[in-house]
Amino acid sequence: MDLQQPSAIHAITAFADEIMALRHHIHQHPELGFEEYQTSDLVAAKLQSWGYAVNRGIGGTGLVAVLQAGHGPRRLGLRADMDALPIQEQTGLPYSSVYQGKMHACGHDGHTAMLLGAARYLAATRQFSGTLQLIFQPAEEGLAGARRMLDDGLFERFPCDAIFAMHNMPGFPERKLVFHSGAFMASSDRASITLTGKGGHGAEPHKAIDPVVAAASIVLGLQTIVARNVDAQHPAVITVGSIKSGEAPNVIPQSAHMELSIRALDAGVRDLLQRRIRQLVAAQAQSFDLSAAIDYCEGYPVLVNSAAETAFAQRIGEELVGADNIICDTRPLMGSEDFAYLLQHCPGSYLLIGNGAGEQVCTVHNSGYDFNDRCIVTGAAYWAHLTERFLS
Ligand SMILES: [Zn+2]
Ligand SMILES: [Zn+2]
Repeated sequence: MDLQQPSAIHAITAFADEIMALRHHIHQHPELGFEEYQTSDLVAAKLQSWGYAVNRGIGGTGLVAVLQAGHGPRRLGLRADMDALPIQEQTGLPYSSVYQGKMHACGHDGHTAMLLGAARYLAATRQFSGTLQLIFQPAEEGLAGARRMLDDGLFERFPCDAIFAMHNMPGFPERKLVFHSGAFMASSDRASITLTGKGGHGAEPHKAIDPVVAAASIVLGLQTIVARNVDAQHPAVITVGSIKSGEAPNVIPQSAHMELSIRALDAGVRDLLQRRIRQLVAAQAQSFDLSAAIDYCEGYPVLVNSAAETAFAQRIGEELVGADNIICDTRPLMGSEDFAYLLQHCPGSYLLIGNGAGEQVCTVHNSGYDFNDRCIVTGAAYWAHLTERFLS
């Protein structure tokens, strides 16, 4: 057990109420992606008051706060996301969202608060030697705020030797730290398919070209890609989440429209899925004598944790909370995360902190979700300990 560890937990516990109040304030005032004006103002003001050099306007509402101590050459990046979701909150909490239709249902309020807790401790103690760079990013939820920060020169302006990020996760016991080396979160692509046939009377299908039958065949055909083209050892998902066509039982519609979500844990599988979806849709359309247009939209890439940094992150967890409180054999998740873009440019690791397990557990993106305040000290102390170790 590291001697510095209890002091980080102890020191952060002493002002945990303040960080919890900050978390509740952020929870009460949720802002959607790229609209985190109040949140980033608050984060910037706190960091400035603690002595950080705060650089704003990176990726819109994103910011990077820098603190240097000693003369160590290493540079560390820690990232938290700040955005909320377009969900009407139904938690009934005293600090519920005051804004209609917006809420922190993914716990990013907790991520921001935990990193602020670490920031305050590290500025006060400065028991490290090197450059600490805190990355508060906008718009993780689908809008690729991390990529916007990259486009704004994140790593050119603030080079990092390694980067780390943490996400709260219901389903894991509270405060347990969860690690996984390699591919941990899936790529997430979308495709819109429009089939255009020929409308007509429902009684005379031979005079029409029915896009509904073609769409039904394509839905089934798509499932064979995962079942028959992808190596059984590799996970992949093709979900047809929306299919729309027609208005009346006696009318063959002119067109049909489908929306797909496509996920993989391997870049090669991801490419295979795209290639086969395009081939299959084109061939099926031809076989039904109608035309198909595909709008294929590549979203977040596979999130790949680098081995050395993940081993280091896990060791930090062991030192902080003991081997009994870390989970390192967890399976990858088919959800996606835009920290993946940052990991394409810099080695690092993305870990989870358990938000609580059990029958009644509420999932993220649910109107009843709330970040678990009992994670704040553990999460903040984790960042503090990791910083003191990485920049030693
Ligand atoms: Zn989310
Ligand atoms: Zn999230």
